[in-house]
Amino acid sequence: MADVSSLVSEGQNSHIVVCTHCESRVLSPQSATLLKKSYPLPMPTQPKNQLSTLTEDLSEWWVVDDMFTFDNIGFSHSVGSTKYLVCADCERGPVGWHDNNTRKSYVALTRVKHA
Ligand SMILES: [Zn+2]
Repeated sequence: MADVSSLVSEGQNSHIVVCTHCESRVLSPQSATLLKKSYPLPMPTQPKNQLSTLTEDLSEWWVVDDMFTFDNIGFSHSVGSTKYLVCADCERGPVGWHDNNTRKSYVALTRVKHA
């Protein structure tokens, strides 16, 4: 597990969270809470002719309680009770997922940049 202590202050993000591709600002400092929990997220690129979605298990997330907390975020189509989060500007991702039931959003630390 990567050492994320430099990114966390009092359990929250100490840095600006931006898109790894276009540096669009996703979250302001101190707006999300760190959660360590293994959860699968689809790979950013999927091989052609793949019938099922390839995922990887990621273990560190910024939890955002209210989607209006985001500076910028895009949503993909719903898959069951889940929507995937993508960059609002370049639409790359997924950078995380949104639970339609709890209304909480989870941004993968490894899918974003900390500026
Ligand atoms: Zn982007």
